[in-house]
This record gives sequence, C-alpha cells and structure tokens, in this order.
Amino acid sequence: MRIVRSVAELRAVVGSRRAAGERVGLVPTMGALHEGHLSLIRAARAGSDLVVVSVFVNPTQFDDPADLAAYPRTEAEDVALAASAGADVVFAPEAGELYPDGYATTVTVTGPVAETLEGAKRGRGHFDGVATVVAKLLIAVAPDAAWFGAKDAQQVVVVRRVVADLGLPVRIEVGPTVREDDGLAMSSRNTRLDPEDRVRALALSRALRAVQAAVDAGAGARAARDAGLGELAAEGVQPEYLALADPDTLEPVTVVDRPVLALVAARVGPVRLIDNLTVTPAGTPAVDPASTGAR
Ligand code: AMP
Repeated sequence: MRIVRSVAELRAVVGSRRAAGERVGLVPTMGALHEGHLSLIRAARAGSDLVVVSVFVNPTQFDDPADLAAYPRTEAEDVALAASAGADVVFAPEAGELYPDGYATTVTVTGPVAETLEGAKRGRGHFDGVATVVAKLLIAVAPDAAWFGAKDAQQVVVVRRVVADLGLPVRIEVGPTVREDDGLAMSSRNTRLDPEDRVRALALSRALRAVQAAVDAGAGARAARDAGLGELAAEGVQPEYLALADPDTLEPVTVVDRPVLALVAARVGPVRLIDNLTVTPAGTPAVDPASTGAR
C-alpha cells in the first residue's frame, strides 16, 4: 500500500501499470472510511488490477464552513482500512495540490440533476464542487472504472452527466447503500450523532420504507410521501425534503408506475443526513439500489 500526495507521483505510479495493460479502478472518498466505502473498494478490487482510493475532504463542495471544519479526518485509520479492503494506492493530497494558486476553473452542471434537492438546499456551488473534483480525479488517475455509492443518488446522476458531457473515457459503477443493522445508512457524519440523535436518525430510513409500504398497500405517490412524512414527524425530525423523483432526471414524480427514487434529507441535532431508496410499484420485485441511475 502506497500513500501518494502529488498528482505527478500518482500519474507515474498509475501510468506504468496502465502501460503494462492493467485495469485501473478508482474509489473517490472524503475519508473517515466505513463499511460503505469499504464495500466500494472491495468491488473495485474485484474488477481492477490496480485500486486507487482517493481521500480528500473537498473544500469546494461544502456550502457551510462549520460543516467543513467539523468533517471527521482520520487518515491513519483510513489508510489501514483501505489497505485491508484491497486498495493499492491511497491518494491523499493537500488542498493546494488540487486547487493551485490562481485556481479559476470550475465544472458546472446545470438543470434539475444539479439544481433540485441537494442542489437547492446546499446551493448550486455544492455540485459544482463535486463535479469539479471528480473531473480532476478522473483526469489525474484516468481509471478504467470509478466506483460510487447509491447512498448519494443525486451525486451519481451528476457524475454520470459530467462523464457524458466531458466525454471522459471511464465506466461509472454504483454500489448499493450499506446500512447499520437497524437501517441507518452508514455515513462519516454518523459519528457526530449523540445517542439520542442516533435513535432519531432512524426516522430517515423508516420514512423511506414507509413510502414503499404505502405504495405496496395501493397508495398513490402523494399519500405514500405523506406516510413517510408521518414517520419523520413521529420522531420530531423536520425534513429539508422528502421527494419522489425520476432516477435519471430527478424530475418530480407524481405516479409510481416504474421504479422511482424516494430521497430524504434532514438535520438531526447538529448533523445533516441524507438517504434514499428505490421505490417500486406495488406487486413488482424490489430493485437492487445498485442500479440507481445506472441507465
Ligand atoms: P464520501 O466519503 O461520503 O464522499 O463518500 C465516498 C463514496 O462512498 C461516495 O461514492 C458515496 O456515495 C459512498 N458511500 C458513502 N456512504 C455509503 C454507504 N453507506 N453505502 C454505500 N456507499 C457509500
């Protein structure tokens, strides 16, 4: 396992392996690795000869300086965990390596995929920051494939848009959301939940399951959403949004006649959490969330 700090060294390490005909896989992360990240690293390991994990808390995607400052940073543990899951290289640059003095170029994604939901709540700079750093990582590593988690469903849609629009020669793979046994979607931010908020945080996944249960019971989209809102209200959790959306365009959905995304965001105590579930029409089999946005 090798730790790399500069793009030049990264290119040297990866380039020699690619020149030998090996398949290169990339897993971009912001560190504080948990089982969700490790599942992606294992999937990359299974599909690649060389696995690069980037660990970079990307300042440009944070709308809230307090959130950026509070974001957990656990590099030594991350390196050990990444190695245990099969990573060959951890790319952990300083911010100045990716954003040099005079930096003035941003990748901007417009339209509902970037401007609704997370884009509306966190400001349009959020997905510009994501699109820019992902483009930079894909250009620096030039992997055959890059792995992303269905946990950040809108991010997957945005990344696919960037790759298609910039013509980047990379395959985007999506791994399913990894959850704690009680249903809470794993997140680096969960460590900041105190015990009471940790219990209240379960309302998010419960709300998403309630949407599916209501659809299964014959409810329409509006009533199904109401069922989800009821679960949040029962825990006193105020959603920033609970929405049903098209998995490809993220346009609002009013009829569940095909698999659609149910997405939720809420602040629980000091922590902003997001989760999503692919909701299928009554009587149809559940969809593997890994296929979210996969078309
Ligand atoms: P982050 O470090 O939060 O930026 O996440 C890095 C990658 O891991 C992103 O592609 C996330 O979607 C993915 N990820 C984060 N949490 C989970 C989870 N619980 N299950 C699956 N993938 C996840």
